Amino acid sequence: MQNRADKALADTTFFPFWLDRPDAPAPAAPLIGATKADLLIVGGGFTGLWAAIQAKETDPSCDVVLIESDRIAHGASGRPGGIVSTSVMHGLGNAQRIFPKDLDALEALGHDNMAGFTRTIDQHGIDANLEWTGEMTVAVSKDAVPIVQEEYDLHREHGHDVELLDAAGTRAQLNSPLFEGAIWSRKNSGIVHPARLAWGLRRAAIALGVRLHELSPMLGIDDQGNTLVVRTRDGEVRAPRVMLCTNAFAEGHKRIKTRVAMVRDRILTTEPLNAEQKAAIGWINRQGVYDTRTQLNYMRLTPDDRILFGGRLGYFANSPRDPRLDRTPAPYGRLAEAFFTTFPQLEGIRFSHAWSGPIALTTRMAVHFQSYYGGKAIYAGGYSGFGVSASRFGARVGLAKLAGLDLPETRMEFAATEPNWIPPEPFRAIGAKITMVALDGADAKGGWRKPWLAMCGKLGFPLS
Ligand SMILES: Cc1cc2nc3c(=O)[nH]c(=O)nc-3n(C[C@H](O)[C@H](O)[C@H](O)COP(=O)(O)OP(=O)(O)OC[C@H]3O[C@@H](n4cnc5c(N)ncnc54)[C@H](O)[C@@H]3O)c2cc1C
Repeated sequence: MQNRADKALADTTFFPFWLDRPDAPAPAAPLIGATKADLLIVGGGFTGLWAAIQAKETDPSCDVVLIESDRIAHGASGRPGGIVSTSVMHGLGNAQRIFPKDLDALEALGHDNMAGFTRTIDQHGIDANLEWTGEMTVAVSKDAVPIVQEEYDLHREHGHDVELLDAAGTRAQLNSPLFEGAIWSRKNSGIVHPARLAWGLRRAAIALGVRLHELSPMLGIDDQGNTLVVRTRDGEVRAPRVMLCTNAFAEGHKRIKTRVAMVRDRILTTEPLNAEQKAAIGWINRQGVYDTRTQLNYMRLTPDDRILFGGRLGYFANSPRDPRLDRTPAPYGRLAEAFFTTFPQLEGIRFSHAWSGPIALTTRMAVHFQSYYGGKAIYAGGYSGFGVSASRFGARVGLAKLAGLDLPETRMEFAATEPNWIPPEPFRAIGAKITMVALDGADAKGGWRKPWLAMCGKLGFPLS
């Protein structure tokens, strides 16, 4: 007999809901033959697009070429939850963990980044369904209430407009029998349609004169003194400066992967909610929501009132681009079950779409920079699942470092140092598999899982 998760996944499309649109732009022509540029950007996700736009805004005469191996936003950028936050360091709590002495400066940089993010969206008339609904962290058990209380205190200390909700107050916002409390951060955060944002940024970059080539994978880089020659499948680009915006794919130099691991995170969207289903959950204020489970779940409403529910990690050794194993119902069963545990009143609803996307995991859980070829190439990435708006900041600081600019932010520790080393394959795959099992049972079962997660904590990952 089929269980409720199997039934809900019976007619699902295994492709990102965000990218499944008739108005997706046709791909730009691949690069054929040899060309030159002042700046080459490799990777057409948010980081690459923001780098291209900001380079042109700074110097309209700069000849910028962007190459993307697949299509714009087919990496992480067309696949996220689309919850937009002000922090450029994966949240205030994570910033405090990694750079406590720079906390106020990083906060200010986050606010400045969010102002630039909205300015560009307005200037270029990008309709990305941006909704400033705020974000909530919800406690999924009584034991987790102190976590949100602590988060509330930290946010208040740093001047955020936040509200602490008890169980009844939380359920009045979003009705789940699991929710025992929440912190609701009301300003400068919300939800966006990520693919429409990426396609709008693509259009803006082209309008600014960026030469864009899709379906043009970089195959290798040759260092020829003052110039880097980047070979693609059908051509090459000669440029004095190259920005590597390959995030979880970590391409451009073999050492990038020593600090960056690709894991995949999975997401489901339901069919659009009907009036009765909407009444059963509330969610009138449409916040982006994270919960306190050790293997975190996040959720939001889409513009057409589906629930997007994400957060089930998978690891595929050697980081395949689009794992076939993830295009069947089986890997989504546990996530669907978590959905129905959270919203039992929606039993019977079906999932329209299911997909996974690549997360660039680092021990910092936030953007960092790696410099190669005598400083002629910079990698900017490693957002660890928190990069929709932070990617603009990563691109800006990456460009400044590539140009050798001495700015207050390029001197700060986050820009001048790298995250911890991560073991290579096959140890990485084995460690990842054990960690996934540990994360799964940590809340309910504990046992060997807690010491294992504490050991991951010693490597630098905030899992314990
Ligand atoms: C499931 C999921 C949920 C998420 N949810 C959120 C969220 O709610 N909020 C949030 O802030 N963040 C979220 N994120 C994170 C966010 O999506 C990413 O941090 C952000 O999209 C990173 O953008 P990027 O351009 O650096 O990487 P990507 O979008 O992955 O772009 C990298 C690009 O490089 C290209 N590339 C790789 N190799 C080559 C090569 N050899 N030649 C040419 N091109 C190459 C890839 O094809 C890809 O398009 C989520 C991520 C995932 C996967």
